[in-house]
Amino acid sequence: MPRPILATIHTQALRHNLEICRRAAPDARIWAVVKANAYGHGIERAFEGLRGADGIALLDLEEAQRVRNLGWRGPILLLEGVFEQRDLELCSRLGLWHTVHCQEQIDMLAIHKTNEPHRVFLKVNSGMNRLGFQPEQVRSAWTRLNALPQVDEISLMTHFSDADGPKGIAGQMAVFKQATDDLPGERTVSNSAATLRHSGPGLVSDWVRAGIATYGSAPDYPEHDIAHWGLQPTMTLAAKIIATRALSAGNTVGYGSTFVADKPMRIGVVACGYADGYPRICPTGTPVLINGVRSRVVGRVSMDMITVDLDPVPQAGMGSEVTLWGRAANGAVLPIDEIAAAAGTVGYELMCALAQRVPVVVAD
Ligand SMILES: *Cc1c(COP(=O)(O)O)cnc(C)c1O
Repeated sequence: MPRPILATIHTQALRHNLEICRRAAPDARIWAVVKANAYGHGIERAFEGLRGADGIALLDLEEAQRVRNLGWRGPILLLEGVFEQRDLELCSRLGLWHTVHCQEQIDMLAIHKTNEPHRVFLKVNSGMNRLGFQPEQVRSAWTRLNALPQVDEISLMTHFSDADGPKGIAGQMAVFKQATDDLPGERTVSNSAATLRHSGPGLVSDWVRAGIATYGSAPDYPEHDIAHWGLQPTMTLAAKIIATRALSAGNTVGYGSTFVADKPMRIGVVACGYADGYPRICPTGTPVLINGVRSRVVGRVSMDMITVDLDPVPQAGMGSEVTLWGRAANGAVLPIDEIAAAAGTVGYELMCALAQRVPVVVAD
């Protein structure tokens, strides 16, 4: 029998979450961001749930090829553009739209041989200071692109550093607006956090780029959780109890003996550890669902196992379902954001780090 651990991708939840993003920005078209193998879900597995998007955004050319192989004929946007000259050949062949964030990428376009002019997204650095032209360089970059026969339509793009927090987007939006003031072309500025928190008048966005929200994690957790935004988990990580044990007061559990029972209690050993992508740093108290009932991790996470408190679920035993994140069989939800917070990180990192050895199924 295979080891009793399984990840499930929820197609309906992907569809539902995409719809939530759509409703938040009803006048915009929506990019489903599927970089990092659809945030760890698997591009092929997530595709059915995301194909209702208007475009697919990603950054690896190999992933773009995979999306075309799935039969997707709509827009594909390379969020970081090309990395080297020959990438432009694939852009021509697959009809990829690509970000242009630096002069070198314009240089490559200028010597690219193609019969099909490309649609490009000129990226403005409005304050994130990773990719993009400085505001005062935007006009000359646009003029240079506009003069190239290799370029068809030019759209304008920026990315926010603080859409999820108190600083907000107003400052960067002002920089972007000023830099692009009278330039024609479509605009795309919003990630999930900006789409959910800042859509509305003043945020000119022809396209929004929805990533994390479509994968059922609240972009601004803990200020808001997925219930607040009406989002549903799209990935469940579940395993089974493979042993139970009765502890006496004073017994310790696991490596380092970090947990000490203060009274007699029952624990369960679960077939999931850090080699499956469950963060080792999660301390005693990190929530789990046992048969859909909330309980907690006790003691250290090991490579292949964790130990959980069975006291809230006296009927649980060998073979009982333990939900590490996502949705339990009884419908109870454990948002991935809660486990991420216990690990001092974000939902993004946990879903992206689901380990190769975990079998994955796609459900409705
Ligand atoms: C990853 C990414 C997004 C999506 O961000 P989320 O926070 O996951 O919604 C949007 N735009 C760019 C440029 C990105 O790299």
